[in-house]
Amino acid sequence: MLTVGPDPAVVERMLVDGLLRCPDCAGPLSRWGHVARRFVRTAPGAVQKIRLRRAICRLTDDRGCGRTHVLLPAFLLGRRLDVVEVIWSALRACVDGFGWRRLATLMDRPVSTVRGWVGRARVRAGMIRDRFTQLEHLLVAADGDDMTRVAPTGGGLGDAVAQIGVCLAALRRARPAVLSAMSVARAVAVLSGGWLLSTRAVRPVLPGLPT
Ligand SMILES: [Zn+2]
Repeated sequence: MLTVGPDPAVVERMLVDGLLRCPDCAGPLSRWGHVARRFVRTAPGAVQKIRLRRAICRLTDDRGCGRTHVLLPAFLLGRRLDVVEVIWSALRACVDGFGWRRLATLMDRPVSTVRGWVGRARVRAGMIRDRFTQLEHLLVAADGDDMTRVAPTGGGLGDAVAQIGVCLAALRRARPAVLSAMSVARAVAVLSGGWLLSTRAVRPVLPGLPT
């Protein structure tokens, strides 16, 4: 899976021009059909069906691994029905002390759905924190700056969300154009590779680095 921009026409053009790279080996990706249509919930009661593009890293003489990747638009997380803006708001609110029922009411989503997001984020909190620490390190090291010390919040999810905030602040300083072009929630989706709430390991920032 690879997170890409939200505009399918732009993604198609990038694939044709060989501008999208394989997350496993950095070889150029080509079009390789679509996966089955899936639902996306943009607002309570508003469900769309979208078709996600699949791409292949072609095996050639000197490069390519032959793997296929589903291209996930930046407004989605892997295997989640709701757009990332809603899920990210729920995670932030949970850290701020909101309980399940209040969150579900605020988000206008079933309690079980909200509990699923938060539960998964809690299980993966250490992994998420480490991933965003790596990203912050890369961003500040490029400019010769020091990393920001994140004060412990007393909870794993709180620490992870705090580290994401610090990483986004570093991104805003180092690459201001990125966050002016997309919402904070979409930046979180992109930086996590779309796997924020999945059961898989968050992909290392650089091959060879631990997650
Ligand atoms: Zn590859």
